[in-house]
Amino acid sequence: MATITLLGTAPGYPAPYRNHSSFLLETGTHKILVDAGESCSRTLIELGIEPVELDTIIITHGHSDHTGGLAMLIQSCWIVGRERPLPIFLPKELIQPLTVWLNASYIGPDFIPFELQFHAWEDSDRVNICGIGVRVAPTTHLDALVKKFGNGRFHPFSLSFDSPGFEFVASGDIGTPEDLLPQLENGTELLICELAHFPPTSLFRFLQKFKISRLVLTHGSAEVLANVDSVVAEARTMLPKTEIIFAEDKMKVQLAPRKR
Ligand SMILES: [Zn+2]
Repeated sequence: MATITLLGTAPGYPAPYRNHSSFLLETGTHKILVDAGESCSRTLIELGIEPVELDTIIITHGHSDHTGGLAMLIQSCWIVGRERPLPIFLPKELIQPLTVWLNASYIGPDFIPFELQFHAWEDSDRVNICGIGVRVAPTTHLDALVKKFGNGRFHPFSLSFDSPGFEFVASGDIGTPEDLLPQLENGTELLICELAHFPPTSLFRFLQKFKISRLVLTHGSAEVLANVDSVVAEARTMLPKTEIIFAEDKMKVQLAPRKR
């Protein structure tokens, strides 16, 4: 059975006892890392998984709470002699600066023996990753930067994963709950949703329109983390048919075999 392990559940500012955004999807045949907040490499090893075992890395957007552990992941693969290519799906704007950063750390394409295969989300709104259909939808999380600095950059994405065995939606970072509309049209068995950039009540009200069996709340703001019990209680009141789970680091979530 496919499993998600939450490696990091902190918001954008460091929080005690929580690593930054990252989760591991294990399908039984593949290991896929979604976001690479620090210290995902160490957490994987604490869970008995070597970073070199990863088949693919997915990055939803460029903020350092989602990318800060990437260089160490690649260094970890290099140290143990990875040879097979490492696909990395990410916003196009990150490819060039990440390459410079990795080369500056002596683990970029100029130095390592395995290929970093960068794939830009912008190239297709549906991609096949390790046999899983991934639907890619832009979010408004970075709109303030677009307004301030102009467009052409600042592209964050939400993702939905669809395979014969399971399906789920991962919000990435969003600007408003309405960003999730394209991913939730048909409902979902599991939504992993951030809770740092809008009032929790607005998310729960928005989700009332959809059939969502389970909701994993992660990436809670400092205010949310200070009030977990009341946030969860409100979610359970407003979404009585949805199982509500508040994420902790290293929490495992089994993906239910799909019915539809
Ligand atoms: Zn974030």
